[in-house]
Amino acid sequence: MFELFGIQITWRVLLDIGLVAFIYYNIIVLVRGTRAAAVLYGMVVVLVVYYLSDKFNLYTLNAMLGEFLTSIFLVVVILFRTDIRKALARVGTKRFWSKSQVRDVTLDNLILAVMNMSKTSTGAIIVIEKNVPLGDIIDRGIELDAKVNKELLETIFVSDTPLHDGAVIIRRDRIVAAACILPLSSKLRGQPMYGTRHRAALGVSEGFDSITVVVSEERGEVSVAMNGRLTTSLDEVRLRRVLRNALGR
Ligand code: ATP
Ligand code: MG
Repeated sequence: MFELFGIQITWRVLLDIGLVAFIYYNIIVLVRGTRAAAVLYGMVVVLVVYYLSDKFNLYTLNAMLGEFLTSIFLVVVILFRTDIRKALARVGTKRFWSKSQVRDVTLDNLILAVMNMSKTSTGAIIVIEKNVPLGDIIDRGIELDAKVNKELLETIFVSDTPLHDGAVIIRRDRIVAAACILPLSSKLRGQPMYGTRHRAALGVSEGFDSITVVVSEERGEVSVAMNGRLTTSLDEVRLRRVLRNALGR
């Protein structure tokens, strides 16, 4: 087709590059926010040191790391057998391939539930996952798999029930988990109006591509956290606008 830096670029080369990029992208998306990510970083460091030890002729170090790297594949498979099984199972599902986002009925149910909880000052925190899975945060909560509807959302946050403490996570049109512990943001420290619930909402929005709706138990106030920013005092109209914008409508 054409030539770049003396390399013949054919459709075959483009397809090859495209597929490899697709696989790497999905591996990164799958492991982000999980234990596996830390291990992957560690392995990259070992690989770099291995390469450098070869370049600078550090024979013993090179031999030692070489030994280590030949068995690393097996070690990784053993350490992460459950994660690998889960990841492969996800690739096999229809949801992995479809780009469908949160549907309008889901959004309507969410908004109605939030406004009802605001009226009754029921504390709530709901995370809508976007393109990056929330990995370990979901695993450490209580996993559910239920269609989003307003009655269920309101029921989950009734105080003194086993599921009310912590965040609900929504992926597309389903509630995937409840009672999830989110990372806390270090912002909002000097603002006594906003305690751990709001800091948790902000925290997850700093580290993950997500939208979080919070209802304050103390004031009934509705807020949304996104990209490390908290938008407070939302009424129904503004909440709908913010959510629709965030979901690209
Ligand atoms: P409110 O305005 O509702 O009082 P707040 O921002 O003042 O909210 P707290 O009063 O500390 O926060 O709210 C505590 C509740 O927030 C907990 O009962 C729990 O349900 C939720 N929460 C606290 N920390 C986390 C966290 N890390 N992840 C998810 N939910 C959390
Ligand atoms: Mg409080």
